[in-house]
Amino acid sequence: MKIIMLGAPGAGKGTQAKKIAEQYGIPHVSTGDIFRSNIKEGTELGRKAKEYIDQGALVPDGLTIGMLMDRIQNEDCKNGYVLDGFPRTIPQAESLKEALSERGQKIDFAIDVDVADENIINRMAGRRACISCGATYHLVYNPSKVPGICDVCGAELILRDDDKPETVKKRLSVYHDQTKPLIEYYGKTGVLVNVDGTQDLNKVFADIISILGA
Ligand code: ADP
Ligand code: ADP
Ligand code: ZN
Repeated sequence: MKIIMLGAPGAGKGTQAKKIAEQYGIPHVSTGDIFRSNIKEGTELGRKAKEYIDQGALVPDGLTIGMLMDRIQNEDCKNGYVLDGFPRTIPQAESLKEALSERGQKIDFAIDVDVADENIINRMAGRRACISCGATYHLVYNPSKVPGICDVCGAELILRDDDKPETVKKRLSVYHDQTKPLIEYYGKTGVLVNVDGTQDLNKVFADIISILGA
C-alpha cells in the first residue's frame, strides 16, 4: 500500500503516519525527518536545506525530489510506504507519478488531514520533537511519560526552531500557496480521502483505519 499524507504543517500527518506504518508494517518516510538528520550529520544537503527550513520556506524541488526518489527505491519500500511531507508542490507530485508509472505502480490513497489554521499555531507551540528518533509529542494532547524525555529512545525533547509562531505563520502561507492545490490534484485522480484532524488523535486514526481497511 502506498499512501500520501496531506494537510497543513501541524495537522497531525506525522502522528498518524507513524501509526499507519506500524499498523500495516510499511516504512514511514518523512522528508522533514530526512532533512533534519542531514542537518544533524552536517551533510552538504543538510547545509543547503537548513537555509530554507529556518525561514519557513520549502526546500527547492531540485534538492527534494531526488532525495525522496532515492529513499523509496530502498528495499524496505518494496511493499509500500506512507509518505509524510512529500509531495508538497505540484512538480513533486508529477515527478512521483512519473517515477511510479515507469514501474507500473501508483499511489493508493492520499489522506487529507483537515485542521483549520486557527488550531495550528496552538498545536505547534506545544509540539515537542525528539531530535534523535523523530518521535513527536504535545505538551497537552500527547505528552511524553517523563516530561522532556522521549518515550521511544530516551533522548531529550526540543521545540523545533521552525515551530516558533512567526515561522509557523510563514509555513502556513506557503502551505496555502504551494501545497493545498495538491488536494484538488489528488481529488481528480480519485485517490483522495478526507479525515477531520481536529478530533482526538485516536479517533482520527480510527477514521483512517476504517477507510484503508484493517
Ligand atoms: P511539518 O511536519 O511540521 O509539516 P516537516 O517536518 O514535514 O514539517 O518539514 C519541515 C520543513 O522541511 C518544511 O517547512 C520545509 O522547509 C522542509 N520540507 C519538508 N518536506 C519538504 C518537501 N517535500 N518539499 C520542500 N520542503 C520540504
Ligand atoms: P505534522 O506532521 O502534520 O506537522 P504532527 O503529527 O507533528 O503534525 O502534530 C503536530 C502537533 O500536534 C504535535 O505536537 C502532535 O503531538 C499534536 N497532535 C497531533 N494530532 C493531534 C490531534 N488529533 N489532536 C491534538 N493534537 C494533535
Ligand atoms: Zn526519541
